[in-house]
Amino acid sequence: METFAIRLGGSPESARDLVASLAMPSPVGHALGGLAAGWLASGPGRLERPFTTAILFAALGAVPDIDVLVEGSHRLYTHSLVAVALVGLTVAVSPRRLGGARGRFALACAAAYGSHLLLDWLGDDRSAPIGIRALWPFTDAYYQSSALLFPPVERRYWLPGFWTANLHAIGWEVTVLALPVLAAALLRRHWTRQA
Ligand SMILES: [Zn+2]
Repeated sequence: METFAIRLGGSPESARDLVASLAMPSPVGHALGGLAAGWLASGPGRLERPFTTAILFAALGAVPDIDVLVEGSHRLYTHSLVAVALVGLTVAVSPRRLGGARGRFALACAAAYGSHLLLDWLGDDRSAPIGIRALWPFTDAYYQSSALLFPPVERRYWLPGFWTANLHAIGWEVTVLALPVLAAALLRRHWTRQA
């Protein structure tokens, strides 16, 4: 951690503050993950309002991190499988039909939201407690993969090196997620043409 603090221009004494500000994948990575997951899970057939649903999938992929606004709840309630199920259930019972067959679209929305948990689980979380409480309320355990695919993202914009560190992290996220997004887009186009 000391090394990372110095690389960002901070002092070793500021390392504790730095730890508190490190996130896992950025909103860009999460939006790409949500888009790929939503497109893939929506399955064969035509998606109504394709542009709107693409925005929705991307937003669902990023929205769990809204919990940073509530102190002490980050990577807790909104980062659980219960939240994933609630998203699917909400879409399934919604009176407004948005993207196609209701059940399938509910599954796609849940998958887009759930992609956030997967990416965070694969992220290099350096902010204790490490990981996400994916199985809340059944257990208080935090989960993090042993294979850390995504580097941490710095939120403190006033630190020297903020842009360099984050552009590097976002570049890596885009590199890793480009292939799944492209594959999902091609499948989505194929399914739309067949419908
Ligand atoms: Zn998150």
